[in-house]
Amino acid sequence: MKPLALLGGTFDPVHVGHLRAAIEAREALDAEEIRLLPCALPPHRDRPAVAPEQRLEMLERAVAGLPRISCDPRELRRRGPSYSYDTLVSVRAEIGERRPLVLVLGADAFAGLPSWYRWRELVGLAHIAVLSRPDAHGLLDPRLEELLASAGTAAPAELSGSPAGLVLRLEIPPLPVSSTLIRSRLQQGRNVRFLVPDPVLELIRIRGWYGAGSSADGSDL
Ligand code: ATP
Repeated sequence: MKPLALLGGTFDPVHVGHLRAAIEAREALDAEEIRLLPCALPPHRDRPAVAPEQRLEMLERAVAGLPRISCDPRELRRRGPSYSYDTLVSVRAEIGERRPLVLVLGADAFAGLPSWYRWRELVGLAHIAVLSRPDAHGLLDPRLEELLASAGTAAPAELSGSPAGLVLRLEIPPLPVSSTLIRSRLQQGRNVRFLVPDPVLELIRIRGWYGAGSSADGSDL
């Protein structure tokens, strides 16, 4: 059975690194669909610069017309912090016990996994696919090394054979783009065209989010 994949994040704002990561993961996993899942209140980081509904609006523009990529607003409809555990329980209830479900994480997010709420139970609900990300190197927490030793696989196709339980490491072409980089460039009045999709950039410019001025749309190119 083809998996359903989920890529959670703050998407503050969504950028080409997210979209390429989603496409790479969907292809490698041969997933039916990948859903981008914006969090309301991220438990492990500062409050996002832009409100949840606005981040969702940018995401909807970013995925419009992209085949088999959608966004899933369920974390914005819940109260309190956005725990991935609660999200996976809710998605699992929706898709049934048998369908493979894959939580896709960049290597930086995976490195922080042991601080997540009920993190050890996540692999009982879904597989985890860890995408390479530039600058996310260094030593892994020994608990994650243990998890990789017991549940790791290098074969994406294996994830289609069971609903949950495996951890896959996936090398993807590096794109050293982050939301932090985009926010900082916008604040400096610099041009971010081709780092975020044009329809998203248009929205950022019209609303003046992230301190964006008129050069944000690339009109000076
Ligand atoms: P910030 O700079 O604000 O921390 P970010 O660019 O890391 O943001 P998030 O919304 O936190 O974006 O990322 C959501 C998910 O996408 C995370 O699992 C993250 O590792 C992954 N991701 C983001 N950018 C990339 C990229 N360029 N390459 C691979 N994975 C990425």
